[in-house]
Amino acid sequence: MNKKPGIGTLCVQAGYASGKGEPRQIPIVQSTTFKYENSEQMARLFDLEEDGYFYTRLQNPTNDKVAARIAALEGGVAAMLTSSGQAANFFACFNICEAGGHIVSATSIYGGTFNLLGTTFRKMGIEVTFVDQNAPEEEIAKAFRPNTKLVFGETLSNPGVMVLDIEKFARLAHSHGVPLIVDNTFPTPINCRPIEWGADIVTHSTTKYMDGQGVHVGGAIVDSGNFDWTAHADKYPGLTTPDASYHGLVFAEKFGKMAYITKATTTLMRDLGSIQSPQNAFYLGLGLQTLHVRMNRHCSSALTVARYLESNPQVSWVNYPELESSPDHKLQQKYLPDGSCGVMCFGVKAPEGKNPRSFASVFMDKLKLITIETHVADCYTCVLHPASHTHRQMSDEQLLEAGVALDLIRLSIGLEDPADIIADIQQALDEALKA
Ligand SMILES: *Cc1c(COP(=O)(O)O)cnc(C)c1O
Repeated sequence: MNKKPGIGTLCVQAGYASGKGEPRQIPIVQSTTFKYENSEQMARLFDLEEDGYFYTRLQNPTNDKVAARIAALEGGVAAMLTSSGQAANFFACFNICEAGGHIVSATSIYGGTFNLLGTTFRKMGIEVTFVDQNAPEEEIAKAFRPNTKLVFGETLSNPGVMVLDIEKFARLAHSHGVPLIVDNTFPTPINCRPIEWGADIVTHSTTKYMDGQGVHVGGAIVDSGNFDWTAHADKYPGLTTPDASYHGLVFAEKFGKMAYITKATTTLMRDLGSIQSPQNAFYLGLGLQTLHVRMNRHCSSALTVARYLESNPQVSWVNYPELESSPDHKLQQKYLPDGSCGVMCFGVKAPEGKNPRSFASVFMDKLKLITIETHVADCYTCVLHPASHTHRQMSDEQLLEAGVALDLIRLSIGLEDPADIIADIQQALDEALKA
């Protein structure tokens, strides 16, 4: 078998092969520590002279197999699991950007990441400039500074499902000598592999589709191995100058293409914790084995529901990248030709004289099969109304300024039968009118 295996085969088998009499499924190694024959063996591990396990905060065999599966799916050289998607984005940036550094990020990103970059990083002495991802290249280029260390964006933004022009962002990053980090949570590597379009590092909240059943919170970072840290040595001293906590070892010299993930594991995970538990990594491994089948179904059902909503006179607007009416339809066709994800946004039309903000809540309260959740992107169809939930402290004027329509409902299509999802939406629309 010298042909590169297909994505479905990688989902099921990458990262783990069992030998004679060994478990067919990735086993859970639920152990904090690992035994060695003598002190010299252990010392070599601590000096990073040898590969091996000694403490689960740094590395664990279950996690490593699952991480290797994700690396194979994304086409990277190495990956690392984290305790959450937030930890993944934090580590991915902090691994190469310290106090005094600067980040250029798309504005349309997950709220948690927006807070991490805009508030917490600022407190840590890292500045961030947010840019409109659809602005022309020369406009975005103005955001770069001499101390810029990385560019950040989401392949498909949560919740707006805007499609990132990855090639444009990669060009901007590389022409300024910095890597592009892309959060690929929503499309998953089934629908888009950002490294193939020039991204250097890919992150995930594995809590979403990768798990897919809503059982674990987790994250992952994948490195392409493509960015040449040594060529921009002055920007990345953490990778290119001696590390005092490892007897003066230089990560980029000693580990080459593995330098970025090795540094993240042996310095950030060592010092900050946030490992994914082996039990959770096991659930993630199971989820990955059906990811290709599930994503296909999420996308086909979502398109069916999006078309139904678009043709419904009780619905004021729908945004789903596959719809020809979507402003990002061209980008979807380029970067996500096989489908985007199961998430869309739409607005319900409030009857004359009724407030659109409160009418959206009335509609949601009438849903039966579809649940109200803050979560998205798993097997359960769910809705969220930012104006009543995540953004409820904001006035109508503030919401509109932030680009959040008063009637905006985020809908995440699960794995139920699309006909049942549509029937539930229709009965809720009808009941809301009577309320
Ligand atoms: C949910 C989410 C995160 C945060 O992940 P957690 O696992 O909840 O910490 C980051 N990025 C995107 C795009 C997300 O959807």
